[in-house]
Amino acid sequence: MLRLLPSVNRVMEEPEVLALEQAGFKRSYVTELIQQAVSNARTSIQTGKKAPSDKTALLEDIKQELLDACSRHPFSLRRVINGTGTVLHTNLGRARLSPAAVRQMNEAAGFYSTLEYDLEHGKRGSRGSHVEELICKATGAEAAVAVNNNAAAVFFVLKALASPDDVLVSRGELVEIGGSFRVSSIMEMSGVQLKEVGTTNKTHLSDYLDSITENTSMIMKVHTSNFAIQGFTASVTPAVLKEAAGDRVIIYDDLGSGSLYDFHQHGIGEEPLIRTAVKNADIVSFSGDKLLGGPQAGVIAGKKKLIDQLRRHQLARVLRLDKATLAALEATLFEYCYGSPAENIPAVRDILATPEEIKARIISFLENSLFRSLKAEIVPVTSRIGGGTMPVTEIDSYALSVHLPGVEMNELDRMFRRADIPVVGRISQDQFLLDFRTVASEDYEPLAAALENLDAEK
Ligand SMILES: *Cc1c(COP(=O)(O)O)cnc(C)c1O
Repeated sequence: MLRLLPSVNRVMEEPEVLALEQAGFKRSYVTELIQQAVSNARTSIQTGKKAPSDKTALLEDIKQELLDACSRHPFSLRRVINGTGTVLHTNLGRARLSPAAVRQMNEAAGFYSTLEYDLEHGKRGSRGSHVEELICKATGAEAAVAVNNNAAAVFFVLKALASPDDVLVSRGELVEIGGSFRVSSIMEMSGVQLKEVGTTNKTHLSDYLDSITENTSMIMKVHTSNFAIQGFTASVTPAVLKEAAGDRVIIYDDLGSGSLYDFHQHGIGEEPLIRTAVKNADIVSFSGDKLLGGPQAGVIAGKKKLIDQLRRHQLARVLRLDKATLAALEATLFEYCYGSPAENIPAVRDILATPEEIKARIISFLENSLFRSLKAEIVPVTSRIGGGTMPVTEIDSYALSVHLPGVEMNELDRMFRRADIPVVGRISQDQFLLDFRTVASEDYEPLAAALENLDAEK
């Protein structure tokens, strides 16, 4: 039976396969896909899953599998259309970058750059200099460094500034943040002695003060980003801690996200302002790709003496940022310092968009669209911020509820994910929803194509 299997070269000779090369597919890529298809056919025959009728039929099957494989996207990390309404969707890459950030990132990636070069003096420059001043200007901090992400920032601060001493943390703040990142585990790994104070729902100033010994070098506050304790609660603000113990220990505030933009002023969420947090602590850290709306990074800002200690530490080299990320971070921070983040930083703009604006987006999207069997209806929904920020905040929005007669929700969901540019929606109360809070105007064309294809399939 296995004798009937065609050789890779035999498959290569088929006109449709030769045409693939004309269409720009690399020969080595096609060869590998053929090898895979032949091997799959062999396994199917061996395991009895497939009874080959004849040589021609087998060749046809293999060819079809190859063509199907070629029609799929060759890359694994791909653009998708986010119809979930969750602005900082961790699984979908959190923040989309501003066009300026993308431009700077492209330049830094595709050309040589001033990454560590001082143009003025024609000698070695500093990698950190591109963002430090902007971070200081935007946050009011004396000094700053940026590392790969905020998880790295937390580890770095603890390791370099507190290990092997005691660090006090409230029991109510020992959080686990998605992807099994546990504050307690990170603390242990950094070599500090974690001293829990207070209880899950209540921690008082005296709980901290009574636990300070000569071995205590830091009090860490952790923003409980992804959950909210409500009801009978008490916690101590960094400002109060600094006032009471700031001369004896370092006050470190891990903000998680924090924000440079005052969303609260628009009635959205309770996210602490980074500028305020910097005033009330010795050192703070926050993410680059949460509410900041920039690239993945962790920003550490605060007292110059502490930041200098970080800069001199070996870990600074281990955790340093890549040039493309630095370029995007610089452009994002520049927007906060000198531009209009509410208009130009996609994450900020999308969070601020009013339900009316979103409804208008859908109406404009639907203009000129005519479906045969597909039903699309505008319905009110609520969007989430995501990225572990503002856990209890829901913002009113509108979605396109899509229905295809005779097709179940899960199947419809799968069909959308198979579109040329995959569309990720949300199923709620037996409706397939595309929340336009997270659908950009650049997404309209491919999204319309996806809807038309679905309409044509039925
Ligand atoms: C999200 C978060 C982190 C981790 O930040 P990343 O940038 O995702 O690494 C750390 N601490 C808190 C409180 C967070 O919310």
